[in-house]
Amino acid sequence: MRICLLSFHCCPYSLIGGDGVGGMNVYIKELSSALAQFPDVEVDIFTRRQRSDIDTVKTISSSLRVIHLEGGPVGPVDRRDLYEFLPEFIENLEEFLVESQTKYDVVYSHYWLSGLVGEWIKYRFGLPLIHTYHTLGFLKNRALEKEEHDYRIEAERHLAQVSDQIISSSLEEKSILRGEYNLPAVKTKVIYPGVNQEIFRLRGREGETENAEKNNLSLLYVGRIEPVKGLMSIIQALDLIKHDDPGLFSRLHLKIVGGGKKREFVQNREIGRIQETIEDKNLKDQVFFLGSKKQKELRQHYAAADALVVPSLYESFGLVVVEAMACGTPVLVSKIGKMKSIVREGHSGFSFRPNDPASLAACIRYFISHQKSLWPGEKIREDVTGRFSWERTADETYEVFRSQIDNPLRPTTTLPRGGNPLQA
Ligand code: UDP
Repeated sequence: MRICLLSFHCCPYSLIGGDGVGGMNVYIKELSSALAQFPDVEVDIFTRRQRSDIDTVKTISSSLRVIHLEGGPVGPVDRRDLYEFLPEFIENLEEFLVESQTKYDVVYSHYWLSGLVGEWIKYRFGLPLIHTYHTLGFLKNRALEKEEHDYRIEAERHLAQVSDQIISSSLEEKSILRGEYNLPAVKTKVIYPGVNQEIFRLRGREGETENAEKNNLSLLYVGRIEPVKGLMSIIQALDLIKHDDPGLFSRLHLKIVGGGKKREFVQNREIGRIQETIEDKNLKDQVFFLGSKKQKELRQHYAAADALVVPSLYESFGLVVVEAMACGTPVLVSKIGKMKSIVREGHSGFSFRPNDPASLAACIRYFISHQKSLWPGEKIREDVTGRFSWERTADETYEVFRSQIDNPLRPTTTLPRGGNPLQA
């Protein structure tokens, strides 16, 4: 089975945690390497060239390659500006496929921009199109009061129709998709992402001992720094605790991992806004920006924290939740999407209302007084590793591909080509 996997706007092998580079990259990297373990599978990941010093074809293993094709300027481009470069990328992809005479069995696209590329390839080469949204523009708009490109909203609706199958990361997303786009149940399959159980291992005594000795409480945030991630609510919650309970406040620390390399921080508006608030509210001695980390280093941060805080306003799954839990670390999550059911209230963590610093402040205080009653680290890990693994994600994804390839009567609801916003 040859899989043409599309990740137009970001390369899964670039540094994670920067602006726009997050869970989707981890998802594609982990899933494609798990799929490439199947004896009959070969995966090619097509992505936009972002560096001139990189080979067009990078071989990761005998059945996994990353292929960099031009689509817009060679270098980082804000993903909101990438739409106009799709035609160039599509042209280069088509040329590559024709010249290399590689025959694929299925095209699997990620995020709406790649979905539009996938649609093109589907019709040009007669392949089934499987699509994963990762996030949905209309839900992001709902959470944030309109931020997303109009084309994105239109394109996502369009992709619901032209895809042969949609893979969704949660039941919550599936039911929203069905309601919003009026999709038959069979068209959307829920497959949960996994967690790398070798990288994210049980925490040792490192953090616990150090924090206990100093009587400190170390909170951790991990992820991209953009408004939808809600990091500002943690800062505001700390400020509330500072006023209400100065004794507790002096013991609290927040470490922030993500946002790209520290020298790139100046380009990120949300980081600027958060840094100003920290300055205004005099929280500098409590909050530390560590920049993005590779996952191997990230493990130590999860392990050393008393709790991971995930304050997102919208999240299709939330990989950081399962990663921290695989390290045995409790998690405080906003009550949204799949996250609220991954964390078992009172056993592996607690939850609070999204975008509500007072609710988060109360949750932090509650956590501190009930910390000892939570499950021990081994049980938190077991709870999550029993449910989520990339091998399981790959098995289920393989089955979706197989059924699409073997089904000549796949239930495609094709729109006339003019329905594609690229042609507007
Ligand atoms: N991540 C990382 N380094 C960082 C920050 C984040 O490797 O400095 C990874 C993290 O391990 C997780 C992913 O980025 O796998 C974030 O995924 P999540 O689903 O939590 O958020 P998304 O980026 O999809 O919104």
